[in-house]
Amino acid sequence: MAQKLLQFVSVEKAMPRKRQAADRRHDFREIFGEFDPAKAELQAARCSQCGIPYCQLHCPLHNNIPDWLSLTAQGRLEEAYELAAATNNMPEVCGRICPQDRLCEGNCVIEKGFESVSIGSVEKYITETAFQSGWVKPPSPPRELALSVGIVGAGPAGLAAAEQLRRRGYQIHVYDRYDRVGGLLVYGIPNFKLEKQIVARRHALLAAGGIRFHLNTEIGGDLSFKELRARHDAVLIATGVYKARDMSCPGIGLGNVVAALDYLTASNRKGLGDAVPAFESGALDAAGKHVVVVGGGDTAMDCVRTAVRQGAASVRCLYRRDRKNMPGSQREVRHAEEEGVEFVWLSAPAAFLGDGAVRAVKAHRMHLGIADSTGRQVPRPLEDSAFELPCDLAIMALGFDPEDVPELFGAPDLAVTRSGTLAIDHRSMMTSLDGVFAAGDVVRGASLVVWGIRDGRDAAEQIHRYVTEKTAAVQSAAAD
Ligand SMILES: Cc1cc2nc3c(=O)[nH]c(=O)nc-3n(C[C@H](O)[C@H](O)[C@H](O)COP(=O)(O)OP(=O)(O)OC[C@H]3O[C@@H](n4cnc5c(N)ncnc54)[C@H](O)[C@@H]3O)c2cc1C
Ligand code: SF4
Repeated sequence: MAQKLLQFVSVEKAMPRKRQAADRRHDFREIFGEFDPAKAELQAARCSQCGIPYCQLHCPLHNNIPDWLSLTAQGRLEEAYELAAATNNMPEVCGRICPQDRLCEGNCVIEKGFESVSIGSVEKYITETAFQSGWVKPPSPPRELALSVGIVGAGPAGLAAAEQLRRRGYQIHVYDRYDRVGGLLVYGIPNFKLEKQIVARRHALLAAGGIRFHLNTEIGGDLSFKELRARHDAVLIATGVYKARDMSCPGIGLGNVVAALDYLTASNRKGLGDAVPAFESGALDAAGKHVVVVGGGDTAMDCVRTAVRQGAASVRCLYRRDRKNMPGSQREVRHAEEEGVEFVWLSAPAAFLGDGAVRAVKAHRMHLGIADSTGRQVPRPLEDSAFELPCDLAIMALGFDPEDVPELFGAPDLAVTRSGTLAIDHRSMMTSLDGVFAAGDVVRGASLVVWGIRDGRDAAEQIHRYVTEKTAAVQSAAAD
């Protein structure tokens, strides 16, 4: 039944059914269920239809949120889906895993005192309904072009660009060194946030639309970058950031001190049914172990919650700042606490103790000192504050840096920034090499899926412009 808008005064914010921690601790299924139609319409009707939609401004894709909420409240779901899909290539993914508390929902103007509209859950509901109803169609270009674009990386940035360009009729070839499409959506982010069939469904749709995927193909290894450039009219690099940040600390080289992405990839592969020797040997399996995860970002949150599900004896998260100053989403911390994770705030490792393999972490208490040039208070160890935590699996989740792409691609002229990300002209999105564009984490540094999608869409526009102008110039030269 169609709902009147402006219901936020009388209707409380509600999320889809959330599984109890005691239940979800034992499996990797997503923790939220689906809205039923009546609840979705009622929640969408909480929108105040304010004049200046800050939710839309703070969504990196500038999704037309008030309008699709209004259509949902009226039960006009097919139109709501058309609107949601017009600005977002993966609304079903963003609805699940965007940190809405920092983006759209965090800027909802009814929030003060009334709590925001549950925008992400409605976005997921609209898109899941669209899939079930057969409204989601593969890209279907009005005409085929003879021009081709090579995209390196099948993560959110590469996939968004691929779809946008394919819609215009380009021949799109996506190359990825992994064996599955999705990048970190598949091998980084755990199932309890995003089940893998959601990503596989997108892959199938894009493949059905004529996008060709070349998996197990590493550019710079299996295929040279030079050959790739020769094959295509333009190239997009969307390879993400994968070099794990390290710390120097006594005992860091002990067995059982592992990198977060190795740990998460093993768990995701296991869930997908792959043979994972490092998991089967126990090296990357937390079952029965005292686990300490070092870091305070979303990757650390994913590690602690994965360890809980693998049946760890205890799971602690050691973070050198406090809860207020952590980079990870507060929502994820709440989920982790409900699932039994202990957060040890204002603490950092001083040494990993053990003989061959780690048996304990020696840590210092920290305090937050004066702010540095970035404005963040610098954590400093407190004297005589050392303490030990039992540990037989330490997982380092300290963030990611870009790999040396010019070196890997044998392209020394590919310019990078001081932090090692690819340097681009931010208007044209072109790198220092003619016809070579870049998007996503490899440009921004570790970021978010929604920003990857935004960059992929922007890069697609710029690639189209570049190829069109170049083709016109060639034709005009031939006509002279
Ligand atoms: C553990 C974890 C949890 C996260 N959780 C969230 C979250 O909850 N919400 C959120 O919004 N964001 C999250 N993120 C961040 C998000 O996943 C990334 O910002 C996003 O995936 C970046 O997209 P991308 O396309 O730039 O790169 P990626 O997703 O990293 O994809 C890059 C692709 O390029 C391929 N590639 C790399 N080099 C080559 C090569 N030489 N040849 C061929 N292929 C190559 C890789 O195999 C990969 O498939 C998380 C990240 C991690 C690590
Ligand atoms: S894409 Fe992300 S930020 Fe934008 S409306 Fe959806 S959940 Fe919010």
